Amino acid sequence: MRMSTLFVAKPNRAHYAVAELERLGIIKAVITQNVDGLHQAAGSKNVIELHGTMKRAVCIACGRTYPMEVVIRKIDSGQIPPLCDECGGILKPDTVLFGEPVKDFDKARELALMSDAVLVIGSSLSVYPAAYIPIFVKEMGGKVIIINMEPTELDYIADVIIQCKAGDAMTLLLREIKDRLGIQQ
Ligand SMILES: [Zn+2]
Repeated sequence: MRMSTLFVAKPNRAHYAVAELERLGIIKAVITQNVDGLHQAAGSKNVIELHGTMKRAVCIACGRTYPMEVVIRKIDSGQIPPLCDECGGILKPDTVLFGEPVKDFDKARELALMSDAVLVIGSSLSVYPAAYIPIFVKEMGGKVIIINMEPTELDYIADVIIQCKAGDAMTLLLREIKDRLGIQQ
């Protein structure tokens, strides 16, 4: 049931706004802890998924990966647990489990260190190492903009804090940026 919920989830206005800002060249990359693949579904291209993705499964024996659709077909046809075609190993979602190191953190860190600004959207910034990202940006002299409904652990380093729903904030921000770039809306 959790799997099927995953496949009907749709990107929200914030996901779409982020994707459009990437198309406009404003956003260079998305670094996310989400495993739902909704940034890509909204059109984001350069997405670093620190906690992996539920859209893909990986063989615990040989490391071969499979699209989740393929694995769901295996489960539906009665193969429980779903097995690797290559080596017969068990397939699991390609996500980071509690206590495992996050994926691609070096890449995320590198991006943060050369960014002149980071937009933190919908995070309490209490989970490390992801919460280091805005700290890296700040340390290199960049700006930190935090959009979250509640105060966060890193409000003290923020240059701008917007306490608002992500969808509302990002819709307005996108409109303002397009306006300043002279893009017809
Ligand atoms: Zn395998």
